[in-house]
Amino acid sequence: MTHILIVEDEERIAAFLTKGLGGAGYAVSWAASGAEALALARAEPPDLVLLDLGLADMDGMAVLTRLRAAGASPPVIILTARTGVTDTVAGLEGGADDYMTKPFRFAELLARIRLRLRPTSDQAADADPQVLEAAPVRLELATRRAFVDGHEVALSAREFALAQTLMRRPGQVFSRGQLLSLVWGYDHDPGSNVVDVYLSYLRRKLGAERIETVRGLGFRWRKPPASE
Ligand code: CA
Repeated sequence: MTHILIVEDEERIAAFLTKGLGGAGYAVSWAASGAEALALARAEPPDLVLLDLGLADMDGMAVLTRLRAAGASPPVIILTARTGVTDTVAGLEGGADDYMTKPFRFAELLARIRLRLRPTSDQAADADPQVLEAAPVRLELATRRAFVDGHEVALSAREFALAQTLMRRPGQVFSRGQLLSLVWGYDHDPGSNVVDVYLSYLRRKLGAERIETVRGLGFRWRKPPASE
């Protein structure tokens, strides 16, 4: 049974989530504080974490950092009353996979949970390559490490996912909407320029010429000319 850990200090919201997710067939555990969340995640590693940012004992971002530092890699969806783009980007940079702003519709949360759980179950069946290489850029998928000309480049989880998406299909044009869906799991444009922001990070780290903008259509990983 898929196990979801809810980290939420407001009992009313936790009860609502527990009931809804239980009804949808998930095994749910609830942590009312950051410390409890870390202990529960250690005792029984969850398949997905719903993380409130405003906790009484520590910031949700600190919980996320410590989860990741402990080697836990389940998808994390942030549930936050904060709506600033800065918070959003900080959350995604900090290793979260998605975020929803309170108040949210349960059906939408459920859809995002399913979307986030899908890749993990597919990964085993998928005969994915372990390395993506488009000289001089090399991505090692198992270890999530990136190299340019043999030198390691630090990419955030989101930057890595974006690079991986583009490099998997060199020459294919991805629209902003497609990238939002494939990399961020959004089915709509939240009205931020998050795709452009991350593309600029990647261009800076991997080389500006690797990612082409195709006017009016989107972006693509540059295919090396056949003569190279
Ligand atoms: Ca809270």
